[in-house]
Amino acid sequence: MSLKIYNTLTRKKEEFIPLKKGEVGMYVCGPTVYNYIHIGNARPFIIFEVVRRFLKFKGYRVRYIQNLTDIDDKMIDKAKELKITVSELAEKFIQEYFIDADSLNIERADVHPRATEHVQEIIELVRGLEEKGYAYEIDGDVFFDVSKFKDYGKLSGQNIEELKVGARVKIDERKKGAIDFALWKRAKEGEPSWESPWGKGRPGWHIECSAMSMKYLGKSFDIHTGGSDLVFPHHENEIAQSEAYTNQQFARYWMHNGYLCLNNQKMSKSLGNIMKVRDITQKYKGEVIRYFILSAHYRSPLNFSEEQLQQAESSLQRLSNTIFNVKHLLKQDNFIKSKVKDDELILEKRKESKQKFVEAMDDDFNTPIALSQLFGFAREVNIYLSSPEQKNKEALEEILKFYKELAGKILGILKDFNQKESFEQEIKKLIEEREQARKERNWVESDRIRDKLQKKGILLEDTPSGVRWKKI
Ligand SMILES: [Zn+2]
Repeated sequence: MSLKIYNTLTRKKEEFIPLKKGEVGMYVCGPTVYNYIHIGNARPFIIFEVVRRFLKFKGYRVRYIQNLTDIDDKMIDKAKELKITVSELAEKFIQEYFIDADSLNIERADVHPRATEHVQEIIELVRGLEEKGYAYEIDGDVFFDVSKFKDYGKLSGQNIEELKVGARVKIDERKKGAIDFALWKRAKEGEPSWESPWGKGRPGWHIECSAMSMKYLGKSFDIHTGGSDLVFPHHENEIAQSEAYTNQQFARYWMHNGYLCLNNQKMSKSLGNIMKVRDITQKYKGEVIRYFILSAHYRSPLNFSEEQLQQAESSLQRLSNTIFNVKHLLKQDNFIKSKVKDDELILEKRKESKQKFVEAMDDDFNTPIALSQLFGFAREVNIYLSSPEQKNKEALEEILKFYKELAGKILGILKDFNQKESFEQEIKKLIEEREQARKERNWVESDRIRDKLQKKGILLEDTPSGVRWKKI
């Protein structure tokens, strides 16, 4: 089966063919580390990490790079406000970013390059652009001359003339063209700075991603991703400066995720309507947030509300109950060797659901449909479990494998598969106590325990071979 990816550059779904057979180079624009990340920031980090997981599942070797922007205007302003240095600020919020990433079960990238550790590469790139006539210096600032790059606007589909009109409002009079952008900025008094051919200064924002992606993935690589607010100008500028420098295509597939809204308004720091990941994880498990993000297609807008999170939580709970019941049965050591019709049937359903799951992911990472396969199969499993026949061990193990692979490994949810041992022991103990009470004909006590179990979501079934229980 072939994987199709919607490419912002061509505005269509295309078959994914990597540059090198079996290998994928992927770059994700990472956080600017001046504050805690909000749930809107987290959306691309979760989605593109799932893309990476799925590519691995398909057998690709994936090299995954996510940068950390540790120098820019926002960093400088925030450090001033907190009366600390920019590097102290960066250290703090890099740590905080990884705490949030861990709680959301976002795996580490292969490299998390920092802008301040790649200033030499950035200077090299800016110098090259200057030599080729794409960049010009004015008083220690270096700008990219957009008029020299004929493909400018190809990613965002923007009309250059309209852009120029729009840009005139806040134009820097010194620039040759209204939409020329900064590659290098002269340092103001007291700002962090590096020596350069243009005097003391620091990199512009766009150039760091060009320098770092090309350093770790090569001049031309497979997939570049980010939020849709980065299409213009950030990614458009990355393309211009990189392709002007190398004369080669920069990234071949561009993936962008839709906005995350709060009360149907785009979540952004400038609008002040943000929800920090750190605050949400006080109340909800990271995998609930992850599930919520994956419950919509990555290109669609997604509206955040408390209600949505509660729904995500109860959906996950349902899946986790099914898995719990399978594990519970597996512990009973009471199996039949041969497979009966039910066992064959559930194995057949497992195959079908897995195939549909993979087809959905192959179709531009359609996670809502992929998730629906996990639920559809869980319904079949519940029916299978509810029949009184003894089960076949292999069939039960295959069910678990299905969830471990598709939910755990690819989507990164249901991580706490094995964290319910003590719960199981507690239930076992209560059931024994109830049995004892029944033997002693102490009906009040036995009913009390039954109610207690019911409150824990445990349903008891008295069968001739003893008490069976399951989680509902
Ligand atoms: Zn970037």
